[in-house]
Amino acid sequence: LFVETPLSEGTAVRIEGGQAHYLGTVMRTKAGDPVKLFDGVSGEWLAVAEHVGKRDLTLVVREQLRAPETVPDLWLVAAPLKKGRIDWLAEKACELGVARLVLAETRRTVVDRVNLDRLRAHMIEAAEQCGRTAVPDLADLAKLSAVLREWDAGRTLYFADETGGEPAFAAMQARKGPAAILIGPEGGFTVEEREAVRAVPGAVGVSLGPRILRADTAAAAAVSVWMAAAGD
Ligand code: SAM
Repeated sequence: LFVETPLSEGTAVRIEGGQAHYLGTVMRTKAGDPVKLFDGVSGEWLAVAEHVGKRDLTLVVREQLRAPETVPDLWLVAAPLKKGRIDWLAEKACELGVARLVLAETRRTVVDRVNLDRLRAHMIEAAEQCGRTAVPDLADLAKLSAVLREWDAGRTLYFADETGGEPAFAAMQARKGPAAILIGPEGGFTVEEREAVRAVPGAVGVSLGPRILRADTAAAAAVSVWMAAAGD
């Protein structure tokens, strides 16, 4: 179960709302029962239910079950997509092991607002489902130009380019170290954006094959290829 409270031995955690309903009514947790908790940064902990009320529970953390996980240093930079697709993308980014999701507004981005709380909830749920104890960071929506302007040259920027580039697997296997994958919006990048991306130090255009993939498919495919190339 994910909790916002930072966890360590002896921490008392109050559980309310939907999580209390889940533990109390669905799981029929009783005083003394064990519950596994994670806070997204400090690994996984064993807690014990101390008080079980109608609407809330108090759990006390006993011991660490798993140390904080080593997260592959891969960011996913993607243009926001329509609701169902961006939710799917956030979920898959978490499952596939991305460390940070950056949403970058491009000229052809059709979505102007993103509900970060909803996306974070999807990533937490995905982490619970896939056994991840580290929830990816989620950056505030920023303009692509600003993201590129502040780019750290030490982080390779793999620009997924449907018009062609180095084959993704070979390109990613040839370079080690911190990396990011950039995926465009459904309408693709403008000519000016393409030039701006290519001008970023450390940017590498990569191809995911001859077919034009939807942005969410391209994101999942590129992240999977990077993980396979990195052995993660
Ligand atoms: N410009 C295209 C068009 O409208 O015909 C479509 C863009 S595609 C739907 C969305 C994004 O997915 C692209 O900007 C690119 O980053 C990525 N993408 C899709 N297919 C790809 C491929 N075969 N190789 C690399 N990237 C791809």
